Amino acid sequence: MRIFSGIQPTGRKHLGNYLGAIRQYVEGQDRGDPAIYCIVDLHATTVPYEPARLRERVLDTAAMILAAGLDPARCILFRQGDVPEHTELCWHLCSVTAHGDLNRMHQFKEKSAQQRELLSAGLFLYPVLMAADVLAYRAHEVPVGDDQRQHVELMRDIALRFNATYGEVLVAPEHRIPAVGARIMDLQEPTKKMSTTGGTEQGRVYVDDEPDAIRRKLKRAVADSGREVVRAPDKPGISNLIEVLAVVRGEAPEQVEREFEGGGYGDFKAAVGEAVVECLTPVRERYSELRTDEAALEATLRDGAERARTIASDTLGDVRQAMGVGARSA
Ligand code: ATP
Ligand code: MG
Repeated sequence: MRIFSGIQPTGRKHLGNYLGAIRQYVEGQDRGDPAIYCIVDLHATTVPYEPARLRERVLDTAAMILAAGLDPARCILFRQGDVPEHTELCWHLCSVTAHGDLNRMHQFKEKSAQQRELLSAGLFLYPVLMAADVLAYRAHEVPVGDDQRQHVELMRDIALRFNATYGEVLVAPEHRIPAVGARIMDLQEPTKKMSTTGGTEQGRVYVDDEPDAIRRKLKRAVADSGREVVRAPDKPGISNLIEVLAVVRGEAPEQVEREFEGGGYGDFKAAVGEAVVECLTPVRERYSELRTDEAALEATLRDGAERARTIASDTLGDVRQAMGVGARSA
């Protein structure tokens, strides 16, 4: 079972990233053979960004997922920009990707609407690069949040079309999306997912937020009318908080509803705040230790890139051979 997933170094990572994705990365380390995790700096350039800060952000993100429990001895952790096979495979995959499919991607529609100055072709091609990330490793499983479901389905189609066109070279992967906590919503706009680059500042709980900031954000989370702590389509705010508490405690959402039956919103929000503080505090503390040693972080990423490249270059050799690109391999 080979596992692959990527995370963007576009800003401080949040509770949604932690519950939807990072938690699964940690769990996957012992099932993955290997488990491969990538800080996708090339994806980060598809929206406006500060070049001078990108390398800092990569180290922030690396330290964050290491603090959450990734162990470089049990997984491969690397930076996408250190392994050029990703971009080469992206181009090859363009030949079996339908333009119309890219046009239908929800993420493209949402993110393109946010662009003011330049709607880059990179944003349009984002899912092809993401397909290349995973397919370069012939991964079987992709742990992601619910928002990436469509992209993983597309990469399956791309892999299958590639194999039908050029011969069996690639593996069509499956997504792994958690049953609860796969789509944590923005606390201020609970109809939108919590996002690193979109949404609201107050609606986003950062993994490295101080306890008081976490308590305050949860206390001020937009609640819905009524006072019942139950999940319902017309109660997106409370439904979201129920999910958060359920995942953080490792309980079923029904159990949370039973506990707070008839209790009102105030006590419930305070309980969610405390549980989130308890969950994130050890990660924040470990993060601030790890983040100070930049040489160690760079060494971890360098070592990871070397190991990743061994696998990816093998796949690229087969892809070039099957496509008839470049000189015949010996
Ligand atoms: P952006 O909104 O700018 O794309 P992001 O918050 O989605 O940023 P990414 O680095 O793109 O961050 O995503 C990393 C992982 O976190 C992905 O697997 C994604 O599915 C997951 N994820 C992102 N947001 C959420 C969320 N609100 N709830 C659960 N999982 C999420
Ligand atoms: Mg995202």
